[in-house]
Amino acid sequence: MNRREFMKYSAFLAAAAATSSLISCDDLSEKYVKPEQLVLPGEKLLLSNASVIDVVTGRISTGHILLQNGRILHVFPNDDTPMAYDRALDLCGAYVSPGFINAHCHMSMPCTVSGIGEGLVLAATRQTERNAEECIKHGVTTIRDMASLSCLVHDLKTKINRGNVVGPRMITSFLLDVDAGYLTTMTTMYGLIGDKRYFQATNTPREGRQGVRKAMDQGAGLIKIAHQELPFATILPLPKQMDLKTTRAICNEAARHGINVALHHTDYEGFQKGLDAGVTTFEHIVCDQALTDKDLRRLKDSGAYITPTASVGYAISWETTTDQGWDTGVKKLIADERKRLLVDFAYEYCEEPLAMAIEKEYERYSNPEYFDTFHLMPTINLEATKTILDIGVENLIRCYEAGINMGCGNDGGIPFDFPGAMALEMYILEKTGLKTADILRMATLNNAKLMGMDHDIGTIEAGKIGDLVVFDKNPLETFEHAFKPLMVFQNGELAYKA
Ligand SMILES: [Zn+2]
Repeated sequence: MNRREFMKYSAFLAAAAATSSLISCDDLSEKYVKPEQLVLPGEKLLLSNASVIDVVTGRISTGHILLQNGRILHVFPNDDTPMAYDRALDLCGAYVSPGFINAHCHMSMPCTVSGIGEGLVLAATRQTERNAEECIKHGVTTIRDMASLSCLVHDLKTKINRGNVVGPRMITSFLLDVDAGYLTTMTTMYGLIGDKRYFQATNTPREGRQGVRKAMDQGAGLIKIAHQELPFATILPLPKQMDLKTTRAICNEAARHGINVALHHTDYEGFQKGLDAGVTTFEHIVCDQALTDKDLRRLKDSGAYITPTASVGYAISWETTTDQGWDTGVKKLIADERKRLLVDFAYEYCEEPLAMAIEKEYERYSNPEYFDTFHLMPTINLEATKTILDIGVENLIRCYEAGINMGCGNDGGIPFDFPGAMALEMYILEKTGLKTADILRMATLNNAKLMGMDHDIGTIEAGKIGDLVVFDKNPLETFEHAFKPLMVFQNGELAYKA
């Protein structure tokens, strides 16, 4: 960050601090509490007459699911006599999916650009817990936090584990990046460069290996690294990149310890470096040039997963006065869906003061002329996002058609995007042309696999954890049916009921 940028950023922070008292606790929502439990610990709960979705085959069969001590004890067809149970709940044919897994989100981010800037600090802080609650209310029972305000995220994880906050199972990340790298700048922006518990500056292979060991000591669920050429916000400087040697040292050390390395990337150079180094998941997708058949073969042979985060295009790619093509194809689709859904989703998922800020932002961003002038408040850098909805979407479809391992995450927490809104991510993928059965597998079993947790979650099978989402209508017809679950079970217990 140079002097001019620093001054600009300081002015922004000062303005934020000066107005932070505008919101009082009365403007914030009440903590969400789970409904009364259906059975006592140790008792057996039978979910009868369920339309059980098999995410491996995409087939649906009617049957009963027996839950006990947090796990699925048995799944059996309707004509079989159920085993003994303590209480039965007739689902009357409702559709049951494994709990959704959001493989890429940021629980402590406020889902707005101006979440901190317009005196919304209190609301943004409450939003961290709200994000967790909304995950559960929308069927997201496990998430992978890809870094944000790390102290808040780890505090949240502790509260969820202790039962003080209703929220999903959280896998958290440890960041490694070079000085002035993309992740380093983001952590600096949050004033957390001193928070050495979840971040390490990594400029050499030796520091990379040390960083991995430190992540293991901290109990991190994965390592996150990044290659990002252009910053996503107008006030940020150009990021520096980690070299291949250091990236490779991190991947090798991580493989020795059995921990995954996720690479944030949006361009071809980053993608190549990730393949050369051996990362295990590619976050987002290449947006600056088309992937070749050779690239796709290399990616497939590597066994790595891609988490395409389609919602990013929906959230941060906007029409300008010079851009063309917003009246056809995916761009038109996104513009139309955003008009129909975005503001409603903001009020459903966010604290009201934040939702109001999002609505205002949405109106500003919907005006193509907004991007023609300079703004003191951080604004989305459209230079960095303008090719997501053409080159990025084409690459996503090419990966899908080539049979690349794909996970599913929505990048919720970034502006206009909510960690609990996985059904929207799945709906956008559906509208982009992927088959619904494949998308549901990506959001459940594939995500469980890429996180190394498929022995516990990702399918409805005896022995697995009882994380289930119940829908009134078949989500495989369209994920619009998955926007509002009827019920959500977490660890075999009722966690939400509409
Ligand atoms: Zn992200």
